[in-house]
Amino acid sequence: MVVSGRAYDLHAHTTASDGRLTPKELVALAADAGLAGVAITDHDTVAGIGEAMRAGEARGIDVVPGVEIGASGDGADIHVLGLWIDWTDAGLLERLALHRDVRRARNVAMMAALRGFGFDVALEEAEAVALELRGGDDRTVGRPHIAELLVRKGYARSTQEAFERWIGNDGPAYAAVERIAPEEAIRWIHEAGGVAVLAHPGLYADGDRWIERLSRCGLDGVEASHADHDERQACHYRELAARCGLIPTAGSDFHGFRGSLPFHAGLGSRFVGQAVVGELKARSTERRRLR
Ligand code: AMP
Ligand code: ZN
Ligand code: FE
Ligand code: FE
Repeated sequence: MVVSGRAYDLHAHTTASDGRLTPKELVALAADAGLAGVAITDHDTVAGIGEAMRAGEARGIDVVPGVEIGASGDGADIHVLGLWIDWTDAGLLERLALHRDVRRARNVAMMAALRGFGFDVALEEAEAVALELRGGDDRTVGRPHIAELLVRKGYARSTQEAFERWIGNDGPAYAAVERIAPEEAIRWIHEAGGVAVLAHPGLYADGDRWIERLSRCGLDGVEASHADHDERQACHYRELAARCGLIPTAGSDFHGFRGSLPFHAGLGSRFVGQAVVGELKARSTERRRLR
């Protein structure tokens, strides 16, 4: 797909978490797609950003340093995107490192649950799946890697089936651990000079209530347009964002390809224009000035 104008896709994953393309490959694809900018928002890590920024400079595309922080609200996963963060901020790096320890404990609990269902699987094997796709420290192992392991061992026919039957949010082997509250994730992002955006509200049991509640705790924006929202939902969230004084954003949540199909949605399939980018950048600049 080739998008025209000054479009930014504000949500994408690389091999630093559960995406399939390296940061460099992802940035090259974004440039080829005609995007003016792309945000790198890996789960709980900024490990891919340095490589992506270098690739962005080489290809003449704006790489937005970001992160997708997995928080928990009322026992469910709530994702908060941090955009235009200072990804070298020592406080943020320390917080994310501790946060990854909680993710690892979650993964340990899920593997134990899967063994309880009779599967011969170990976390080290899921880590090996992740490592095969990339190397390095500070990278996160996520459910897509566990899903891939279940497929490779013949316990599921596809990663989608692995999610549907076992490890999706309502699945019997899913472990919901207590993580930081979304309000805390917003604070981490602000203290690192970034803007905080509630990711994919349509995936939560009560997205509207979260938008209203977090808009009173400093949330800057809401991801109105997302791979898993239909046009009706996107319109609804744009209206709700306006009512709550939030900036509506857009992101594909691209994770690379499974075979020839994009996992989640194609890079650049959801995007914002210069006006939204300008507003978000201005907030980040103001926040850094106040730091
Ligand atoms: P984690 O951060 O380890 O909890 O994994 C979250 C990731 O798992 C998401 O970013 C998606 O890529 C993937 N995921 C979650 N739920 C599903 C689902 N029902 N079907 C397919 N992929 C999913
Ligand atoms: Zn993911
Ligand atoms: Fe997410
Ligand atoms: Fe995501």
